[in-house]
Amino acid sequence: MQNISHPTVKISSYAHPAESVIMANASSIPLLTKLPKLKSSDQSWLTIHQQFASYGRNAKEWTRKCILLLPEIEKQQIWRKKRFHNIYDYAAKLAGMSRPQVDEALRVLRRISNKPALLKLLEEKGLQRVRPIAAIATIEDQNFWAEKGRSMSKNTLEVYVQNYRREILPREASQSVNLQNLPFEPEEASISQATAHSARHGGQLLQSTSRLSSTLTSSNLQSAIALPSTSPKITLILQLNPQVADQLQKIKGQSDWNETIDELLKLRREKLEQTKPEVVENASRPISVAIENYVLAKTNCTCAFPGCYKPYEILHHTDRFAMYHIHDPDKIFPLCEAHERLAHLGLIENEDFEPQFWKIRTYPDYDDPRYEIDQLVSKFR
Ligand SMILES: [Zn+2]
Repeated sequence: MQNISHPTVKISSYAHPAESVIMANASSIPLLTKLPKLKSSDQSWLTIHQQFASYGRNAKEWTRKCILLLPEIEKQQIWRKKRFHNIYDYAAKLAGMSRPQVDEALRVLRRISNKPALLKLLEEKGLQRVRPIAAIATIEDQNFWAEKGRSMSKNTLEVYVQNYRREILPREASQSVNLQNLPFEPEEASISQATAHSARHGGQLLQSTSRLSSTLTSSNLQSAIALPSTSPKITLILQLNPQVADQLQKIKGQSDWNETIDELLKLRREKLEQTKPEVVENASRPISVAIENYVLAKTNCTCAFPGCYKPYEILHHTDRFAMYHIHDPDKIFPLCEAHERLAHLGLIENEDFEPQFWKIRTYPDYDDPRYEIDQLVSKFR
């Protein structure tokens, strides 16, 4: 529906088109909200489309209302009173819902029945938007998750929840263990824990931590957050040609695989560095082929966010293009759609550093100049 009313927006894998809208002159902006002049043949298909989209929107809204009634229908066995075979038969005949839809709805609703903020989100945005957060949200942080559910698409939300589980929950758990080990009086310790918990969802502590980290240089940041040598290792199973395997094992010799591969990666980086194109200042939006090839080679066209191996979809400027009009090969990274969205939601920490230092955040840094421009960009998406 939105695409039809915004026919001038062209999706590109370069600097995000929405960013170029920000820097475009004011006269180009109304084009995004104005329908183009249509021929009469166009008008008929557009009318049909608009009717279809409008009915579809209403149908979705009514389905959401039906879903919210299902737990009570199950509890009171209302389907039996009305002589249906079971709840699936009832939901299919009266609301056109499939059996998997009913099962999914009941499963999610069981999890969120004591969380009014998520029930409200379900009513507004539907089951798909609540599903990724149903298992992670608690009574205490339901508002935090409801806000995330409103600001993200289903796909971005799923990726955010995965990253949150992997990065933020373990950090919080270790923080809690550390607090327990501190030589506080019990009362003080509980206050600190409460502060840490509310900070996670109020963002205060994390924001100030982030501001501190943004003053660190790349090298001391590296030492500050470098993994200890005792950190758990990841096992990769490689299928190699015998000759390649033989060469690799010879290079490794008596040393450690980690050192060997690290050395090979360093050589690759150095070789690539020699081909690095110049920074383009006062640039227009399209990125030159030379810069595109260079930044894509760094991750072999894979999303640059740590732990994400999806193919890239967008080349992301960590120094926002709309602010600086610069294509800097050191500050452009290939990202999948979800991580690019999270970056523009201000939820990636340490964006000024290499992606290996990027982390997921709970709240944006509202003082970061990128935040304001990202807010403007989001209005044109
Ligand atoms: Zn990604």
